[in-house]
Amino acid sequence: MMHGALESITQAVGHTPIVRLNRVAAGLKAEIYVKCEYLNPGGSHKDRLAANLLRRAEENGLRPGGTIVEATSGNTGASLALLAAVRGYKCVFVMPDKMSQEKIQHLRAFGARVVVCPTAVEADDPRSYYKVSRRIADETPNSFYANQYHNPANPEAHYISSAPEIWEQTNGDFDAFVAGMGTGGTISGCGKYFKERNPNIQLVGVDPVGSLYYDFVKTGRVTKPFSYKVEGIGEDFFPTTMNLKIIDDVVRVDDKECFLMTRDLTRLEGLFVGGSGGAAVAGAIKYAKARDRAEKILVFLCDGGGKYVSKIFNDDWMRENGFLDDQPGLGTVRDIL
Ligand code: PMP
Repeated sequence: MMHGALESITQAVGHTPIVRLNRVAAGLKAEIYVKCEYLNPGGSHKDRLAANLLRRAEENGLRPGGTIVEATSGNTGASLALLAAVRGYKCVFVMPDKMSQEKIQHLRAFGARVVVCPTAVEADDPRSYYKVSRRIADETPNSFYANQYHNPANPEAHYISSAPEIWEQTNGDFDAFVAGMGTGGTISGCGKYFKERNPNIQLVGVDPVGSLYYDFVKTGRVTKPFSYKVEGIGEDFFPTTMNLKIIDDVVRVDDKECFLMTRDLTRLEGLFVGGSGGAAVAGAIKYAKARDRAEKILVFLCDGGGKYVSKIFNDDWMRENGFLDDQPGLGTVRDIL
């Protein structure tokens, strides 16, 4: 074995840097720091989830050569596919037909099988991607249904991996932890670890306009969800992996502020992140402004900007969706002059 080498790329998961924001957070009393999970080899924090899901599945009898099944279009699929490629598992991903070809090809690049299901059917229709994924898992021997929205191994992944790593990097020297809320794995798992060590650390979730979480935490009411463009955060149901009781505050952000902040993080800080990273920082800045005090805020950045170049980083798409009116474009004449 060569000195200094890793045995496989899966050992490169984690140890992501924490970086201070400089220009984007100028003028705030608080300091804002970001945890760069988009630098993981599979492209997001879901690498930690995939590793823990597989560890638990192996404890329950899954053996190499077996099949991992999940209903996913995004980062969880990418992380499971990478891990499966290295460890000799097959993967079947079931996704709705509205997903981009790039996402499908990305998973196929790692050798995964992708099954596409109609979007326009109810969740309990046998053709829905929830039902199809379940059926494939039930009918395939030596298979494992990852089930990230209801698998306790999801928050556990952050409790045993992301959170202790952050604690060690920072010596616990932060006042608030801010994360976008999707399955809730990140905020629930990290949050439990941080609260056990320092109950004063504030856990702040960020939720897009249109999702259920914000209204439910603020008013206890379940409002009718509606669609939005930012990907990976917000839900239209309550996953059992989300522990809302542990959360101290929720900040709401709209698509436009998410995407403009995503572009600013790239252009002003060199952080090439996806839309949920922009959302989390936009939420953290709102939180910091409302508190208006000297404190340290740590923000979790999930995935990278590469997947979004034809959307968030494309001026035409931004303008068509009404997200770009006053901001100078990327690479326009005004920028070059
Ligand atoms: N950002 C992105 C890009 C994601 O894919 C996810 C996962 N859905 C999240 C944020 C939210 O993370 P979690 O599921 O752990 O709440």
